[in-house]
Amino acid sequence: MKNIKDYSIESLKEELSKINEKPYRAEQIYKWIYEEKVSNFDDMTNLSLDLRKKLNETFIIKEFKIQKKQVASDGTIKYLFDVLDGNAIETVLMKYHYGYSICVSSQIGCKMGCKFCASTGIPFVRNLSSGEIVEQIMAVERDENIRISNVVFMGIGEPLDNYENVVNAIKIINNPKALNIGARHISISTSGIVPKIYKLAEENIQCTLSISLHATTNEQRSKMMPVNNTYNIEELLKAAKDYIAKTNRRISFEYALAKENNDNLEDAKRLVKLLKGMLCHVNLIPINKIENGKYQKSSNENIIKFRDYLNDSGIVATIRRELGSDIDAACGQLRRKNL
Ligand code: SF4
Repeated sequence: MKNIKDYSIESLKEELSKINEKPYRAEQIYKWIYEEKVSNFDDMTNLSLDLRKKLNETFIIKEFKIQKKQVASDGTIKYLFDVLDGNAIETVLMKYHYGYSICVSSQIGCKMGCKFCASTGIPFVRNLSSGEIVEQIMAVERDENIRISNVVFMGIGEPLDNYENVVNAIKIINNPKALNIGARHISISTSGIVPKIYKLAEENIQCTLSISLHATTNEQRSKMMPVNNTYNIEELLKAAKDYIAKTNRRISFEYALAKENNDNLEDAKRLVKLLKGMLCHVNLIPINKIENGKYQKSSNENIIKFRDYLNDSGIVATIRRELGSDIDAACGQLRRKNL
């Protein structure tokens, strides 16, 4: 059975034509699913009984079950969802002064093997479908009775390694007739799959691209992120410049500071050299201490010095607020404990 949430409105129209139904039916079905939030085709009362029967025979409306929910003292909520095939994924809800932001997973497991990430060690199982990405947002909205305003693809998985499903999910998330979240409020975070960055630049989606840089020399970055052996810093920054030139969007570079690894003044100087003149922002992340991991959090003093050096050198840098630190905040941790 096909999950109806996997379909953009255009592709649903095509699917419906295969069962001899008119395209406008897709708009009606979208309204029931995304506005009325029904979970049963039989509740779509303005559709004929015949159409409801065909829909029941062809599609399902997939809704996740909550397997576990952890609430931090700052209000951050970490969900472990049962995706109904024996697998589980995690999704994090964060509360900011401007609204609710959700961090979604794009894959079950991850192939990238970044050394500082708690997902490392979780074997790659499969890509999430577009509908499973969309359902993470809907399941959290249902559970908390809220409206989410920001989506970041920063959970488990490398979104650009699941390119087609992620781009299709963004179209559904962004569609005013579906979740209606503005593209500028959607952010994709990549470890640096260079050919897909070039491809994304051509999509004409106004979402924010966030690149995990984390190091300033290839030697250092390859140790932290094996992807650097395939696409090195120079190639990555060339693709980033192309993305900026084509989309006119500012790129956000993620830089996780780890004690005595990439957090000294020499690193800050090299970072300035690499990013000088680019339309970008640096997001400094105090690294989460990972069980059995070799990276430790940088001191607050070092983090502030690093930020100030960048800002004084003309590179806009901010320190990411640590949310959910009393639950398992590094991606992958909750799921790994439940394996
Ligand atoms: S940081 Fe992201 S890309 Fe890297 S291993 Fe973890 S989930 Fe995968």
